[in-house]
Amino acid sequence: MSGSPVEHTDVGAYALGLLEEEDRRAFEEHLHGCGQCRAELRQMRGMADVLSDLRDEAAAPEPAPAPAPAPDAVEPRRP
Ligand SMILES: [Zn+2]
Repeated sequence: MSGSPVEHTDVGAYALGLLEEEDRRAFEEHLHGCGQCRAELRQMRGMADVLSDLRDEAAAPEPAPAPAPAPDAVEPRRP
């Protein structure tokens, strides 16, 4: 009996409203029984809210600069 096509990884898509109606319902049912996904969804929702806020306030937000690698980590050890 492999019934559930729902994966934990659907949380992101669900939070962003990317799931199809059918998938969304299935995932919501999964949420009822999965505290892990509920916790993750809460974080994702917070992030989505922040993103939509940014979109409302700033038309062209600057992309965050990539963090510079630590100098010690730059040179890989070679055989
Ligand atoms: Zn889950």
